[in-house]
Amino acid sequence: MKQEAVVNNAARTEIRPRAPRKIAGVALALGLILGASGWSSKRPETSHVVVHNEARTEFGENLVSLRRSRLVRAREIEKGQREKVIEGSPAAKGVIALTFDDGPNPEFTPKILKILTRYNARATFFMIGARVETDADIAMEVLRQGHEIGSHTFSHARLTKLSPTQMDQEIDRCSTVIESRLGISPTLLRPPGGQWNATSSEITAAHGMSTVLWTDNSGDFESESVSQIVHATLSRAQAGGIILLHDSVDLTVQALPKILEGLKKKKLRAVTISELLGRANHQ
Ligand SMILES: [Zn+2]
Repeated sequence: MKQEAVVNNAARTEIRPRAPRKIAGVALALGLILGASGWSSKRPETSHVVVHNEARTEFGENLVSLRRSRLVRAREIEKGQREKVIEGSPAAKGVIALTFDDGPNPEFTPKILKILTRYNARATFFMIGARVETDADIAMEVLRQGHEIGSHTFSHARLTKLSPTQMDQEIDRCSTVIESRLGISPTLLRPPGGQWNATSSEITAAHGMSTVLWTDNSGDFESESVSQIVHATLSRAQAGGIILLHDSVDLTVQALPKILEGLKKKKLRAVTISELLGRANHQ
């Protein structure tokens, strides 16, 4: 997988990221709509309607500011102030990032949250936008417990198989769902299947997100035993690494306590990707 990513990256193509202009356009359009509709100035007569409209005003303004924060991050990535692609953090001491892809999952995500709490561990969950739409309450609980949420595209699309326009739509739609349902703007994207190339990382950056890969693949998706997953995860795990797991596999739930015990023995604390980079979640 990593090999393929490197090959793809070598085939660098120059494209101009279109998304910042698009985001600015959306922000401007929303601002105009809000202004034109008079949400901030009109006072409807019944108190019920006032509350309703104020809630909508606040919601609309929050979305505009979240999209502005995407634009700011996009500029920071363009200027090299943020990583375009993250493959670990060699400078990190005593910490390793845990990541879970493919949720939220009503069966497995709550079980994983319980185990993480028991070990006082934090993780980044790369969520599929369509699943956030159907299980927003579970995603909200992930946030509430201090974990981080990143994008895993809207429909688990293999980005390298898409046209730039389709990539842009997959990425934008997932961020928009996370923003509108959870009130945070994701700063990180894990490409499904780890399949990325220069075009996907440019478009991801234009949306204000870094492309996040991994250093330690648990292989939980195709493993047949807990011990196989635990061994694959821990054999090379070291400070600054990124562990790939899935909150959509039963064996992962069984392996997780052993993985966390193993990390403790290696004196490694499980943290989110942003914490690994020395930042607060979603910053
Ligand atoms: Zn996935």
